[in-house]
Amino acid sequence: MATARRPLVAGNWKMNGLAAAVAELDKMIAGARDLSAVTDLMVCPPATLVAAFAARARGTPIAIGGQDCHAEPAGAFTGDISAEMLRDAGAVAVIVGHSERRTYHRETDADVRAKCSAAWRAGLTAILCVGETKNERLAGRTLEVVGTQLTGSVPPGAGAANLVIAYEPVWAIGSGLTPTVADVAEVHGFIRERLANLASADVRALYGGSVKPSNAKELMGVPNVDGALVGGASLTAADFLGIAGAYRR
Ligand code: PEP
Repeated sequence: MATARRPLVAGNWKMNGLAAAVAELDKMIAGARDLSAVTDLMVCPPATLVAAFAARARGTPIAIGGQDCHAEPAGAFTGDISAEMLRDAGAVAVIVGHSERRTYHRETDADVRAKCSAAWRAGLTAILCVGETKNERLAGRTLEVVGTQLTGSVPPGAGAANLVIAYEPVWAIGSGLTPTVADVAEVHGFIRERLANLASADVRALYGGSVKPSNAKELMGVPNVDGALVGGASLTAADFLGIAGAYRR
């Protein structure tokens, strides 16, 4: 693969999964054993399943993460979940700034930055998502948008132990569309440069957006791509493990 940074393949289950889905996690755990030599693996189930999944995955190669957190540690925020609660439930990471949060919950870069700080306060790694919309790409504004998101949402103190960036073009999420290899390479090269200034050179940068077993090898082989954030295809063990299998030597 193109990088010395250890890859990470993380699954974002979004608002999918009931208690019975632990059977799928069990299949992932069984298939993950021989992949742990080549990549880190993580599943981010809905909040209702974090504790059960973390208990099941303890001592296995699969880490468990949350999908969002509130910036405050506790308080009168009905329906919200703090980073401390995720940590208490067994999560080691949390996704912040996913485009579905930015769009449907109007989260700004300042909100994402506060959530990132909250994740660190609780001892979680923040998986921070950035990416342009279709109109922004068509207007030639991709690097400007990603640069602004990075500058506005990465707090001081970022490093490889507490931050992972996920580049997720909004138009590629759940659409079956992916950018060209050249486009992914351009954005990831840009992110790598920015990270050298904002954080540290060994922060991992994942690609996300319609990753499947059939395109994983190509996308994971792009320079400066250190793994994948996977939505739909992370719901089944066969596809999730098939994607991670791109890192088999
Ligand atoms: C995501 O939502 O983070 C994502 C990448 O979704 P999908 O893989 O389904 O495009």
